[in-house]
Amino acid sequence: MNAMSKPSLGAYTIIDHTYDVIVVGAGGSGLRATLGMGQAGLKTACISKVFPTRSHTVAAQGGIGAALGNMEPDDWRWHMYDTVKGSDWLGDQDAIEYMCREAIPAIHELEHFGVPFSRTEDGKIYQRPFGGHMKDFGQAPVRRACAAADRTGHAILHTLYQQSLKADVEFFVEYFATDLIMDDEGACRGVMAWCLEDGTIHRFRAQLVVLATGGYGRAYLSCTSAHTCTGDGGGMALRAGLPMQDMEFVQFHPTGIFPAGCLITEGARGEGGYLTNAEGERFMERYAPTAKDLASRDVVSRSMTIEIMEGRGCGPNKDHILLHLEGLKPEQLHERLPGISETARVFAGVDVTKAPIPVLPTVHYNMGGIPTNYRAEVLRPTRDNPDAIVPGLMAVGEAACVSVHGANRLGTNSLLDLVVFGRAAAHQAAKVVTPGASQPALPARAGEASLDRLDATRHAKGGTTVAALRDQMQRTMQNHAAVFRNSKTLKEGVAKMSGLWQGLKDISVSDRGLIWNSDLMEALELHNLMGNAITTMASAEARHESRGAHAHDDFPERDDAEWMKHSLAHCTDEGEVALDYRPVRMQTLTNDVSVFPPKKRVY
Ligand SMILES: Cc1cc2nc3c(=O)[nH]c(=O)nc-3n(C[C@H](O)[C@H](O)[C@H](O)COP(=O)(O)OP(=O)(O)OC[C@H]3O[C@@H](n4cnc5c(N)ncnc54)[C@H](O)[C@@H]3O)c2cc1C
Repeated sequence: MNAMSKPSLGAYTIIDHTYDVIVVGAGGSGLRATLGMGQAGLKTACISKVFPTRSHTVAAQGGIGAALGNMEPDDWRWHMYDTVKGSDWLGDQDAIEYMCREAIPAIHELEHFGVPFSRTEDGKIYQRPFGGHMKDFGQAPVRRACAAADRTGHAILHTLYQQSLKADVEFFVEYFATDLIMDDEGACRGVMAWCLEDGTIHRFRAQLVVLATGGYGRAYLSCTSAHTCTGDGGGMALRAGLPMQDMEFVQFHPTGIFPAGCLITEGARGEGGYLTNAEGERFMERYAPTAKDLASRDVVSRSMTIEIMEGRGCGPNKDHILLHLEGLKPEQLHERLPGISETARVFAGVDVTKAPIPVLPTVHYNMGGIPTNYRAEVLRPTRDNPDAIVPGLMAVGEAACVSVHGANRLGTNSLLDLVVFGRAAAHQAAKVVTPGASQPALPARAGEASLDRLDATRHAKGGTTVAALRDQMQRTMQNHAAVFRNSKTLKEGVAKMSGLWQGLKDISVSDRGLIWNSDLMEALELHNLMGNAITTMASAEARHESRGAHAHDDFPERDDAEWMKHSLAHCTDEGEVALDYRPVRMQTLTNDVSVFPPKKRVY
C-alpha cells in the first residue's frame, strides 16, 4: 500500500501516499484516463467509492458515436455539425472538433482493447441511428452509434477495467474522496479520502489529480442515474473555490419508464420504435417533420410534456406517453435490444412484443460541470483570461464541462466524451508530468479543513435526517428546475434552495463510527448534491432566454446577442452563489469546418 508515514491531524491519524497521478472515479472516463496514465509510465492510483465495474457507465445502453461510416458514408465534419447544432451553439467548437475527429481512432482503440461490439455481416462494428445524428450537414438520419447490443456501457467499462489492471495501476476501491488539497498559489496538490471498509483516513499527494466523479442526477427526484451519481467532484471543486459551468442545462431523457424512471434507450426508437399520445397519434411527426421520433432529446421531451399538458396524455390520469416496439421483429428485439425488453418487463410489467411501454421524460444527464479545455485541464477563468488553467487539476466525463455538449447533449456523445477526453487527459499528462519527480512537501496541515468537516458531520446532532433534507431538495429541483421553467418558479426555487442549504446545519447523523458508515457517506454526498443543485437553480434563474435543455416560458427565444456565453457559478460555504460568464469558443482547431449560428432553429 505505499504508506509513507502516519501523522495525526486533529482527532484522526492519517496515512500518506505519493503518486504521479491520482484519478478520482472509475467510470468510463476515469478508467480511460487511468489506463492511459499507466501506459504512459506514470505511477497512477485510481480511487473509487464503488467497485469500478459498478460505476454508472455500466448502465449505458444505446451506443457510442463515431463517424466510422461502416453502414453508409459518414464524415466527422457532419458529426461535428450535428454536435454544434445539438448544443444550440453553446458548445466550444475547438473541443467539439477534437472530439468528433478523435472519435475514430478512439473507437478503433476500444475495439483493439477487446470491446465486444455487435458486428455487421462483413464483420465491421455495427452502427445504428440515434437522435440528432444526420448526414450531409443535417439532411437525413445516419447510422453512427457503435453498439454492443443494448449494453454498450457495460462492454466498454469491463474492457477498460481489465486493460487498466494490465497497465499496472493501483486501485483504491471503496474509498470516498472528500476534498481536494490546494496550495496557496491555487494549484491542486492532492486529495483526501476515507476508506469505507476499515475507516482509515488517507492523504494522497500527486503531481496531477483527475476528477472523474460522474454526474449529479440524484439532485432530482426522478432520474435515470445510479444512486451514486451525487456530483462529488463538483462539490469538491466548489469548496476549493472553483466555479461550475453551464449548470442550468439538465437533460431530460424522453423515455424513462413511467413511473420508476429507469431508462429505455433511444436506440429503441433508432431501431424503429415510436411514440403515441392518448389519441393514438404519432405526434412527433407534427413537432419535427424530418427527424420525427429521432429529433434531439430536448425537442422530444418538450413535445411529450406539451401533449400531456394539453390533455393528450395516456392512462387514467393522462400523465404519460406510450412507446411502441410491438412492430419490431422478435429476432431484432432479441438481438439488438435484449436488456430493455427485460427492463420493461420488470419495471412496467410489459411484454414489449405485445404492448407499448408507458414512458415520461426523466432527468438523464448534466451538461454542466467543472469547466475544462479540450486537454481536460480545469479552468479558473478570469476576466483577463477566460482560459486560465488550475495547475495540477484535470476533470473528465460527466463531472466536467469541456464543453462539447453545450446546452444539450446528443445521444451517444457522452460515452464518446468519456473515452476521447479520458484519453486526452493521459496524452496531456504524459507531457506535463515527469514520472517519479520529487514533489514539494504539502502545505502545513493540508487536509485539516476537510477532516474538520468530516468530523462535524459525523457528530451532527440536528433535527433533520439526511434522507428528509435530501427528499426536500429533490422535490424542489424536480418542481422548480423542470423541463419547462419560468421566472416565478425559478425565483421561488432559488429562495427554497437557499433555505435548504441552511438546513445542512441542522442535520443529524446517527452512526458515529467510521466503518461502513453509510449514514455519514450519504450526508457528505448530500453536501455535494446541494452545491450542484443550488448552482443549477441560480444559473437557470439568471439565464433569460431559451436554449437547448433550458426552456424558459417567459423568454421563449434563443438570444445570441446577449446569451451566447457560458455561465460560471461559484458557491461559498454559506451557500451564497455568485455568477459570472465566459465566452463560447467559436474558433475551430483547423478551420476544416466552421459552423455559425443560423438565423432560426431548424429541426
Ligand atoms: C441509464 C443510462 C444510460 C445511458 N446511456 C448512454 C448511451 O447509450 N450513450 C451515451 O453516450 N451515454 C449514455 N449515458 C450517459 C453516460 O453513460 C454517462 O454520462 C457516463 O457513463 C458517465 O461516466 P463517468 O465516467 O463520467 O462517471 P460514472 O460512470 O458515473 O462514474 C463515476 C465514478 O466516480 C466515482 N466517484 C464518485 N464520487 C466519488 C468520491 N467522492 N470518491 C471516490 N470515487 C467517487 C464512482 O465510484 C464511479 O467510479 C447513459 C446514462 C444513463 C444513466
